[in-house]
Amino acid sequence: MKDYLIRGTDKLGRIRVLVAKTTAMVEESRKIHNTSPTATAALGRSLTAGVLMGAMMKNEKDVLTFKINGKGPGGNILVVARNNGTIKGEIMHPSVDLPSRKDGKLDVGGLVGNNGTLTIIMDLGLKEPYVGISKLVSGEIAEDLAHYYAYSEQQPSVVSLGVLVDKDISVKAAGGYIIQLLPGCTEEDIVLLENKLKEIKPVSALIDEGLSPEDIFNNIFEDFEMKILEKKDIEYKCDCSKEKIVKVIKGLGKTEINAMIEEDSGAEVMCHFCNTKHKFDEEELKKIMIDI
Ligand code: ZN
Repeated sequence: MKDYLIRGTDKLGRIRVLVAKTTAMVEESRKIHNTSPTATAALGRSLTAGVLMGAMMKNEKDVLTFKINGKGPGGNILVVARNNGTIKGEIMHPSVDLPSRKDGKLDVGGLVGNNGTLTIIMDLGLKEPYVGISKLVSGEIAEDLAHYYAYSEQQPSVVSLGVLVDKDISVKAAGGYIIQLLPGCTEEDIVLLENKLKEIKPVSALIDEGLSPEDIFNNIFEDFEMKILEKKDIEYKCDCSKEKIVKVIKGLGKTEINAMIEEDSGAEVMCHFCNTKHKFDEEELKKIMIDI
């Protein structure tokens, strides 16, 4: 079944909710990057966060970058989400793994580290992009994003992200939700929601049981009057192209390009997000040189 997300609200517009199923997206990312189970979960949670946040932007061309720099053995994580539902991402050291925690869960916090920052950059087509930074709390990602919203955007939020890795290291289930309490929420609403969230299973378990984003939405908000505003397909998809790589090569300068022609009689540039190899022969490199 295809991945998708839904965006909803309560009848009075005081609660913003996004719920996504991201199993296929996270599995695609695992195959591309050949990630260890813990790295699959770390990058998968980040991709899920990115796709949910990307859907909160207004315009099709808006781009959101989600960066985690926690100084753990997995290295930095980078995710780029577009408002159209496509996403790509990478983790610096995909093959590094850690033993599971005492409670049996993958040690994402240990792999990511918590001695650093979460940075969110939103390019909304304005002169300057919006940049928000907050300190990491645990490296578990959902907690770090909730802290980001509270600290950097003064927006009380509930963030839940989950990736269940199967015995054969493929992705069994993945998904997440973000709930934001907007002005007008009463103390009663908050208590009702808090109690509900205490009894609900982890999001990856719900997806694994076959629940759809709508089921999860209806489940959490059964005591509220809610409506779904949007349903959107989402997928891991890289937007690299030979034209974009030409720009990168141009940026290297004439000396470097000359060396590529003389020493390697061509160039091969691999995209880190999708592992596509973009090849350039001597003739093509000479053409690029003329344009500099
Ligand atoms: Zn690519």
